[in-house]
Amino acid sequence: MDYDVIIVGASIAGCTAATAYGRAGLRVALLERHHNPQAHKTLCGHFILGGTHDVLQRLGFWQQMLDHGAAVTPRLGIWTDAGWIVQRPGNGVPPAISLRRSKLDPLLRDIAAATPGVDLLMGQKVVELVEDGVVTNTGTTLRARLVVGADGHRSTVAQLAGVPEDHAPNERFLFWAYYEGVRMSGPGDGQVWQLDPDVAVCVPAGDGLTLVGVFPAKARLAEFADDRLAAFDSFVARLPSGPSLAGARRTSNLVGTTDYPCVRRDPAPRPGVALIGDAATTSDPVPAVGCGWAFRSAAWLAEATAGPLRDGTDLGPALRRYRRAHRFIGRYDDIGRRDALAKPPNALQRTIRSAAVTDPWIARRLAAFGARAEPPSVLLNPVVAGRALLSYLRQNR
Ligand SMILES: Cc1cc2nc3c(=O)[nH]c(=O)nc-3n(C[C@H](O)[C@H](O)[C@H](O)COP(=O)(O)OP(=O)(O)OC[C@H]3O[C@@H](n4cnc5c(N)ncnc54)[C@H](O)[C@@H]3O)c2cc1C
Repeated sequence: MDYDVIIVGASIAGCTAATAYGRAGLRVALLERHHNPQAHKTLCGHFILGGTHDVLQRLGFWQQMLDHGAAVTPRLGIWTDAGWIVQRPGNGVPPAISLRRSKLDPLLRDIAAATPGVDLLMGQKVVELVEDGVVTNTGTTLRARLVVGADGHRSTVAQLAGVPEDHAPNERFLFWAYYEGVRMSGPGDGQVWQLDPDVAVCVPAGDGLTLVGVFPAKARLAEFADDRLAAFDSFVARLPSGPSLAGARRTSNLVGTTDYPCVRRDPAPRPGVALIGDAATTSDPVPAVGCGWAFRSAAWLAEATAGPLRDGTDLGPALRRYRRAHRFIGRYDDIGRRDALAKPPNALQRTIRSAAVTDPWIARRLAAFGARAEPPSVLLNPVVAGRALLSYLRQNR
């Protein structure tokens, strides 16, 4: 074998897995179709939820991201029609971090390439899977016991391996821009507006910039058809306690997309093949989960399989362990797919939100859920539902 593991795609998931495998003493080929090491994803809001904090710390990425200008957001204020939900400082929910992909992707590539055992091979697009390996567009054949698809939502590896895809619709579209000098009026270090069904955000984006984004339901697409920027500005201007863009300077064009369906594939679809990041689960961008899932699924795969790859023992049980760990993402993705339908919130959601406005115990659980820091049961359980209902009844007596 040329390598212990071949990773296809040198972005968040691929670089994270390559770094972890390299540090575990394995020989890694990290293949990227782009030639330029500065290449990066543009369609990404790069707000990385607090649930990823521990993995980023453990890998040593957190400090390096800070050194490159990342912004940390400890507490988000959430606007609901029942009032603002504000987190208490020191409530134990880890902070979010944000670094633009133009900096993040090259940084992760540098870290991976500097890790002993990792060969970063730019300009190598995988076009074929063969027994124990891959063939690239340059005609190079590489072999390893494990091929990892870290190649994003259209995953070539998954297609070549014949992995079935499960698609679900996304009934919102989204646009955002970066600004200098935004004055936030809402509480917290950044804000989310749950306008039901529309959503909006205003969050620090690193390097002193603020990302202001809107996620309207598709019923409003026509409003954005002619003058997208004017529609965006008027949407932001109408946000309750929204950011003031009056004295701010917009430093980018509007970035966004009018359709981004959810896609899911088995993360361990066949012997010798694993999928991580978007290749396994491409979620709705609205809850900002994808980068975190990419870091975390890559770390879980490396943890599960590095030992058997090093020792030459059976990979099957390790891949099954990885699939089990990945269920954490699957459970949240089930919920995310329902939210992506842009339907009005159900009675339970309304009750919990309304209670969280006045009850810090429920607000903390809502924050841990939103940060994907604990399993969904941190919020969705009978005790929280009962307490929220009592609080709701007291408020509406
Ligand atoms: C509009 C939008 C906004 C988003 N905002 C957020 C956000 O705020 N927060 C958040 O956490 N997530 C966000 N996401 C999701 C996030 O961008 C993705 O989840 C994340 O990029 C997934 O990382 P990845 O490494 O799995 O895949 P990608 O970043 O897509 O990387 C795949 C890599 O594989 C390479 N590749 C592809 N095919 C091949 C091939 N055949 N051979 C070799 N290389 C190949 C590509 O060039 C690329 O480098 C957003 C997504 C969208 C669409």
